[in-house]
Amino acid sequence: MKRIFLALIFFFAITGLLFAKPIPLKGNPAGKPLPRIAIAGLGIESSTFSPALTDEAAFHAKYGVDVFSTYPFLAADSPLRHRVDWFPALVGHALPGGAVTRKAYESLVNQTLERLKKNAPYDGLFFDIHGAMSVVGLDDPEGDFIVRIRKVTGKKTIISTSMDLHGNVSWRLAENTDLITCYRLAPHEDAMQTKQRAVENLIGRIESGKGKPAFKAYIPIPVLLPGEKTSTRIEPAKSVYAAVAPASVQPGVIDAAIWVGYAWADEPRNHAVVMVTGDDKKMVTQTAEKLARNFWNARDGFAFVAPTGTLTEALDKAVASNKHPFYISDSGDNPTAGGAGDVTWTLKEILARPEFKSVNGPSLIYASIPGPELVKKAIAAGVGKQVEGYAGAKADARYAPPLFISGAVESIVYGDTDAEVEVAIKVGSVHIIVTQKRKPYHHEADFTRLGLKPRQADIVVVKIGYLEPELYAMRADWILALTPGGVDQNLERLPYKRIQRPMFPFDKKMADPDLKAKLVPSSDKL
Ligand SMILES: [Zn+2]
Repeated sequence: MKRIFLALIFFFAITGLLFAKPIPLKGNPAGKPLPRIAIAGLGIESSTFSPALTDEAAFHAKYGVDVFSTYPFLAADSPLRHRVDWFPALVGHALPGGAVTRKAYESLVNQTLERLKKNAPYDGLFFDIHGAMSVVGLDDPEGDFIVRIRKVTGKKTIISTSMDLHGNVSWRLAENTDLITCYRLAPHEDAMQTKQRAVENLIGRIESGKGKPAFKAYIPIPVLLPGEKTSTRIEPAKSVYAAVAPASVQPGVIDAAIWVGYAWADEPRNHAVVMVTGDDKKMVTQTAEKLARNFWNARDGFAFVAPTGTLTEALDKAVASNKHPFYISDSGDNPTAGGAGDVTWTLKEILARPEFKSVNGPSLIYASIPGPELVKKAIAAGVGKQVEGYAGAKADARYAPPLFISGAVESIVYGDTDAEVEVAIKVGSVHIIVTQKRKPYHHEADFTRLGLKPRQADIVVVKIGYLEPELYAMRADWILALTPGGVDQNLERLPYKRIQRPMFPFDKKMADPDLKAKLVPSSDKL
């Protein structure tokens, strides 16, 4: 009996420890219970025009407390961390690519829901998504995901959604979220700031007791543009987006956002959207209408961020130029927009040009082509030795087959999160970066780690659209080559069947659309 009694005491002590309410932390002297906020989300932009598929591993999912490492503003010593009782469920971010397999999507969603169920109910949920995920056989995955989250959290939980401005906002997503925002800069130098704003707005509404916004204005704009025409570094996107921050701090407004949308998926939700949330009906609707009108009126002015041309034109110009390094974007297979990243067409064309056949030709760095077998051979041969084999065209062989590469191994680097192993191989005057897995090259260090010197190179060709800030700062000149691939920049070449029509720029003579704000029902009414 005594034993049972002791066992019971032990049991209650342990369960007491396990289920004890968290001790109130700094910043909450009143000892009021902290708001309970969950974190969940999946981020990817995936092209339905690419034959590649994305699996679960590509999301590098983080679970529980590991999720905090994604957000510097939620670091252990940060003020926001201590204002809330956090329940991070699952957050995954994948490099852009082809559509996500249904199996991967279901697995990630179900794991998220299981984890959310454990700690429900919540005052709030931070929904961190990109918004341009395509899933095989499923329309509007982010809309599907949030509906399934709502089934776990119920109507009361305030959901604050943070997105990329290249994401898509379906009516269903707008209904199920309460707060919503997106980046205001492209390239996305304000990505973390945006996520932090989404979190701060959420905490603010919970702490103040104001709760869900009284109004959510939604305006679809029938415009579909590639990101490379809407960089906020240049007009007209610069002015259109510069108006967002001032609009969002007006009295009665919580946040304002403009989505360019995602051009490389063929669904009815793919188009631009404006949303404004707040408590003042007139302010919310008028602000949304003004932002939407600005965007629509600017439509003819959106142009590529750099001069464009065919690859031949780009290479001719780069070889003849006295400005170096001369950057060329191999834009049709840009992995950060959803290209497979392994199209060999551009590299094949480069290696076929006579200028680059001799070691004394113009120096050209090509970043990059995945070729796991060639990487293996290069490791076996070693630095300084000759190697040959095939690379690329595993995922997307529509434009050119796997490419035979024969050259000297210049360097081998291990440990990159995306590439895993990277090898530089010299062929003629071309330094080719061959990777085990595909990787976008956005930083100077991505090159210098391999012993390559992009600042001293004559030409640098990167699978990219607009140049990311470090490359942009380094360039002496730049041209965007309109190369083929899963994210062809020439949208009029793409076989759309399911986007809404009329749509700019496809229907040249379309009438002005109705840009009156539609009020989205509160998630309470679902
Ligand atoms: Zn984006």
